[in-house]
This record gives sequence, C-alpha cells and structure tokens, in this order.
Amino acid sequence: MEAVKETLQSDYLTQGPKVAAFEKSFAEYVGAQFAVAVSNGTAALHLCTLALGVNEESRVITTPITFVASANCVRYCGGTIEFADINPDTALLDTDKVRQLLESQPRGYYSGIIPVDFAGNPVNMEELRALADAHGLWIIEDACHAPGGYFYDSKDEKQMCGNGKYADVAIFSFHPVKHIATGEGGMITTNNELLYKKLMRLRTHGITRDPDEMPENHGGWYMEMQELGFNYRIPDMLCALGISQLQRADTGLARRKGIAKIYDEAFKEVEGIRILDINQAALGAAGEKGHAYHLYVIRVQDRKGLYDFLRQHQIFAQVHYIPVHTMPYYRSLGHGKGDFPEAEQYYAECLSLPMYPSLTQEEQAFVIQKVKEFIGK
Ligand SMILES: *Cc1c(COP(=O)(O)O)cnc(C)c1O
Repeated sequence: MEAVKETLQSDYLTQGPKVAAFEKSFAEYVGAQFAVAVSNGTAALHLCTLALGVNEESRVITTPITFVASANCVRYCGGTIEFADINPDTALLDTDKVRQLLESQPRGYYSGIIPVDFAGNPVNMEELRALADAHGLWIIEDACHAPGGYFYDSKDEKQMCGNGKYADVAIFSFHPVKHIATGEGGMITTNNELLYKKLMRLRTHGITRDPDEMPENHGGWYMEMQELGFNYRIPDMLCALGISQLQRADTGLARRKGIAKIYDEAFKEVEGIRILDINQAALGAAGEKGHAYHLYVIRVQDRKGLYDFLRQHQIFAQVHYIPVHTMPYYRSLGHGKGDFPEAEQYYAECLSLPMYPSLTQEEQAFVIQKVKEFIGK
C-alpha cells in the first residue's frame, strides 16, 4: 500500500519508472534477459502470438487442461488450435502425444507449441525444445502457475520456469489468484532481443521512439507506428505493487511448499485419493522440489460429492480445469468430447484444495480431516 501511495503521489500513473523497474526485478527473479510488463496474462499471450507471426495458416498445439487463454491467443490471430492429451500422472501436456501429432504431418504443418506449467509443476522444457527444434517450431511457455518453479536439465543445471533458455518466450499473470498479484497484470520474459523489441512496440500500438529503429527523424517529437499493435500497458502504480509483492515471493513459495508437503503426507496412503506426481525433472538430488504449487490437486472418484461436502463445511475447493476442447466455442470449431480421454477422465476426478500462503495450520488440518471423512464414508 505504501508503494502504491508513493507512485500515486509521483509524476507518473502509467509508463513511469516503476514499469522498467518491475521488468528488471522480474527478469532477475526468473533468470531471463528481458521482460515486458503488460496489462494481463492474456495480453501477454496475445503479444507473443503476434510477435511470433501467428496467422490464419498457423497451427499450434496446447494442452486441454489449462485456462482458456492459453488457446485463445492463437485464435486472436486467426490460427488453428490443436490439442494433445495430458499425461495422467502429472496432468501436464504429454510429450509423446505431441511427438505423435508432429510425426503424423509433414514438416511445416505445425508452427508452435504452448506448454503450460500446470499447477506449478514445471514442464521439462529441454525435452520439448528438442522436439520443437526437430520440427521447426517455436515455444511459448505459459508459466502463469509457476513463478519460482524450476527443473533440472540433462546437465543437472537448474532451469527456472520462464528463464528463456529453452522456450522462445514465457508469460506470467498477476491476477489476484496467482503467486504475485497486482490486481491485473502480466509479464513476458525472453532471451531473444529481436522478439523483445517487437514485443515492446506491440505493447504500445506498434510505435517506436528509438532513433536506431527509425529511418527518418523530424525532431524531438518524432515517433513511428511501424506495425499494428495494441495498448496493453500496465499502470505504474500496479508495477510498484508488483515490485513489493516480488520481494515476498520466496516466502510465499516456501509456505506453499510447506502446505503441499503436509497434504502429500496426509493423502499418499489413502485409498480413494490420487495425488498428482511431480515432474521427475523437477526433483533435486537433495530431495528439494521445483514445483511452484499454484494448485494442490487431488483426484477422487466422487468429485462432485466431495466438492459439495467441503462446501457444506465452508471449504471452497475449485476445479481446474474444464477441458478447453469441450468448451462450446471450441466444439463449434470441430473439437469435442471424447477427443482426449486422459484430460476428460482427469476433469471428472480433479479437485483443487485450498492452497495459499495465508492458509493456517488449523485450517489445513480441518480441510484434511473433512476430505478424509468424506472418502472414508
Ligand atoms: C491466469 C492464467 C492466464 C491468464 O492470465 P490473466 O492475467 O487472467 O489474463 C493464462 N494462462 C494460465 C494458465 C492462467 O492460469
């Protein structure tokens, strides 16, 4: 609140110094070279598809178990979305299914992949990069669930989600349900300077003021609109909030890991409850985990029963997600129920339990008690 107040009293409400400062701190946090702050995570996705040249000819692969925005960004540019099924153990996009899809078509048929670090569980981006390179594809990592998450690559080097080492670009959201909240807000990270410059232009109408980028210069006022962009800027005061939130990110993440550990212990031996596996690549040699635990998901047979039972006891569990390919809009484009059995079976059974840093030990114990009570019935 102090940080926001200070910005409100400054000369800038938007496009001020806090935007660049937030970008710099965020890039450092995830270990990427460049960051572009934008108005929300969906805008971040849209700018990425624009910058990568998605058009009516493009076909892009994503997971059905994600928020709809991961797929919609391709549709904004007129491209076609194809889904590949999930791995039922992790609920992440199944690399083998992606490979099958790619190998079923000639090279050039697909343009890109949008993997999602679902629930905070990091995708093995090195493995996906190899596949993408073999088929000439770009990668947009939807890391909305995973700021602070990481995996270990084949050289046993720690790779932070969104660090731009393997994906061309990565995106984050600062919606209140996410780890770092600014109300509305988003970030793109990349190590590709050309993409970075293009994203910076596209965020502000396709306008540049950089003399190096303009063949002409009429004076101090001169700028050029070089391509069709948008107004996807984020206000300075929200960036001030973001900077201050970022300072608490590690503490929040540690708390989330602590909560996950307690849930893991409580449920691992319980018949009738299936917990999701952490991606093997996200397991450190010393047993530490690169999972960012945006969500804690369990799978149960009578999901609706458990959901209603928990609600009766003032526990507000959630469902993440209704498979995107079964949404009426995507059905109208030819996708439909039955296309991705693992994703649909997962949806029938999944429930996200309360997971946020301010959840108290007593509250978590109550949640566990009620879940076990229902399962034991
Ligand atoms: C939240 C979220 C988005 C969209 O972010 P907004 O800031 O709400 O636009 C995209 N993808 C995933 C996986 C998300 O969780």
